[in-house]
Amino acid sequence: MNPVYTGLPTTIFEVMSALAREKNAINLGQGFPDDPGPADVRQAAADAVINGWNQYPPMLGIPELRQAVATHYKHWQGLDLDWQQEVMITSGATEALAGALLALIEPGDEVVLFEPLYDAYLPLVKRAGGVPKFVKLKPPHWRYDEAMLAEAFSPKTKVVLFNNPLNPAGVVYSREDLELLASFCIKYDAIALCDEVWEHIVFDGLRHVSMMAIPGMRERTIKIGSAGKIFSLTGWKVGLVCAAPAISKVLGKAHQFLTFTTPPNLQAAVAYGLGKSDDYFETMRGEMQRSRDHFTKGLRERGFTVLDSQGTYFLNVDLAPLGATDDVAFCKTLVNDFGVAAIPVSAFYAENPITSVVRFCFAKRDETLNGALERLEHFARKAA
Ligand code: PMP
Ligand code: GLN
Repeated sequence: MNPVYTGLPTTIFEVMSALAREKNAINLGQGFPDDPGPADVRQAAADAVINGWNQYPPMLGIPELRQAVATHYKHWQGLDLDWQQEVMITSGATEALAGALLALIEPGDEVVLFEPLYDAYLPLVKRAGGVPKFVKLKPPHWRYDEAMLAEAFSPKTKVVLFNNPLNPAGVVYSREDLELLASFCIKYDAIALCDEVWEHIVFDGLRHVSMMAIPGMRERTIKIGSAGKIFSLTGWKVGLVCAAPAISKVLGKAHQFLTFTTPPNLQAAVAYGLGKSDDYFETMRGEMQRSRDHFTKGLRERGFTVLDSQGTYFLNVDLAPLGATDDVAFCKTLVNDFGVAAIPVSAFYAENPITSVVRFCFAKRDETLNGALERLEHFARKAA
């Protein structure tokens, strides 16, 4: 069997969610909201199941969704996309990432990756024959600079895989940060594979800027979104892929033999949802931000050191001030003895991980967060 897979542990999200179920813990590990998601979008899916088309949809996605994606990104990110040539629908961002890496990489090509990295990236890069080159980001700011990029890029760089806003760090990179990375993509003729699934979950009045909008990047960016994140319906695996025609054409070839299509009823509901008013998106962001603030305040009051989160469903706690140096041991104790599941950030590093940071999902109701805070207070008292 292929050693990329025989050597892999089960993904940390599954491990922690299984432990949370077993221990009846409050699950702030795997990122999903406990809100059921917008009722009208779910109703649109139900209607489409009962009254709509339930056979294979067109391979690249139903036209109404591809058009809705182009309109949505024009409205929110100022992108001009030709829906017929530049927009494709996949079964989640995960399929889009896998397909893109398979379509782009030839064995021996170098792929620049930023650590902490979403856990699917590295096995996919390796399976495609790519050679990873890491840029190691460090808390509390998780920023990169010119020297770090200069070390990672080379004439062999084919792709840079860039996640913004960044899971698990909760960083939203600025236009200047993007311009710096873009200058390296242009210099080394690399494609930017941009995982922008958290694009709508940004706080404090920040606005997501797509790499595609940076001068010189329009023709060399693959932009990936996820309806699961946009509508807080993470079980809906509907990915939104945008790229210039020459790239899109090849991405379609990878998609045709991975999943070929994506459930048409979910596509119809997402097409409806993308057209929802600005008010819906602003309110959703506002509620998430309020949860972030509530949980941050509660943690700080209990003596935890919370790193700033500018976006995503996540915030991070720095364990160093507590004298803890092993995030995995910390998470095990927390779930086994105190009934709260979290994610050790070392799971997002390939080697020499940062082991002093733990990620919590705050996209939860107040009662869930308050329950977790109460348990964390027991933990803090015991540790003191
Ligand atoms: N990329 C990142 C950074 C994520 O956080 C996630 C999921 N949670 C995904 C990709 C996967 O998205 P999807 O569920 O649409 O496959
Ligand atoms: N993206 C989610 C997270 O970071 C989890 C997705 C998954 O479970 N694979 O928590």
